[in-house]
Amino acid sequence: MGLQPCARIGILGGGQLGRMLAMAGARLGLDMVIFDPEPDCPASRVAADTVTAPYADLDAVARFAASVDAVTYEFENVPVETAAEAARHAPLRPGVKALEAAQDRVTEKRFLNAHGAPTVEFRPVDSAQGARAAADALGAPGILKTRRMGYDGKGQAVVRDPAQAADAFDQIGARPAILEAFAPFTRELSIIAARGLEGQVTAFPLSENIHGGGILRETRAPAAASDAVAAEAWRIAEAILSALDYVGVLTVELFELEGGRVLVNEIAPRVHNSGHWTEAACRVSQFEQHIRAVAGWPLADPAPVRPARMINLIGEDAAQWADWLADPSAVLHLYGKRRARPGRKMGHVTLLGD
Ligand code: AMP
Repeated sequence: MGLQPCARIGILGGGQLGRMLAMAGARLGLDMVIFDPEPDCPASRVAADTVTAPYADLDAVARFAASVDAVTYEFENVPVETAAEAARHAPLRPGVKALEAAQDRVTEKRFLNAHGAPTVEFRPVDSAQGARAAADALGAPGILKTRRMGYDGKGQAVVRDPAQAADAFDQIGARPAILEAFAPFTRELSIIAARGLEGQVTAFPLSENIHGGGILRETRAPAAASDAVAAEAWRIAEAILSALDYVGVLTVELFELEGGRVLVNEIAPRVHNSGHWTEAACRVSQFEQHIRAVAGWPLADPAPVRPARMINLIGEDAAQWADWLADPSAVLHLYGKRRARPGRKMGHVTLLGD
């Protein structure tokens, strides 16, 4: 049974993704409630209610979840115990299984491979000697990454020669890690798919993503892609959604290789920066699509109306906001963050094409 308008949906996490989800929910007549450890987080300022407490405060989590009709999350590092506590008091969509699959890079790749989604070759690494052995086995170059808590390229080191592997392990903090073979990609793509409560699956067209310094800088969509690549992305997304019995929006980040082969880089059980273009260029945004799924409502047709180029405003980039406002082809979105720091995502702008 779907929720009724004026129902309350809780979001674990109140960053810019929570903020955009809250805005989409409000537009559909829902009361959006944010749970975040930071007072004055970006989402709190557009939500009906906010709970400020640490994720480890399970009593606060229980009260929060008991006060809403469904709970979702805006980031994949919500502690599993927090999500599981929420799920005891309200439907959690997507569920705990999706967090477990996405939080640890080794578990994630094993899960993906088990469900027919190809990835680069990899080895778990638990010590400096292990790093060397893994690099000898996989060959160079490779990328050593922490298993957990990495994002925007943090906790990663390139291993150009197996002799550097032990140093790379120290460099990323000597924490449980994964060595990944380097993917010789020609470009990076992502697919933003959604699954409804009744199992209906939709997906936005592929987007092409350009990174710099480990951070997404720009997305172009729809990406011109062969039918075979588009079909493979769809097949992979559908397999993951159904394996996780998923409800909501899921992002699959892909590497496209020479000849059109596709590998999964990682999955994000949430709306995603590479889907921000949908807000200005599609009939339904990734945020509304997610809220529809969480509410148990029908999913919308995700067809794009216009081609788009989304540019992230990172750190001081956002100081140009007035110039973007003056550009008739630009749709500006600022996240209400009071301080710009280098590498901090402050907003984005979507340029609409013909
Ligand atoms: P991640 O945080 O794992 O998504 O990595 C951030 C970025 O680093 C990716 O978007 C790629 O540009 C690059 N990258 C990560 N893993 C690999 C890999 N195994 N091979 C080549 N490039 C990679």
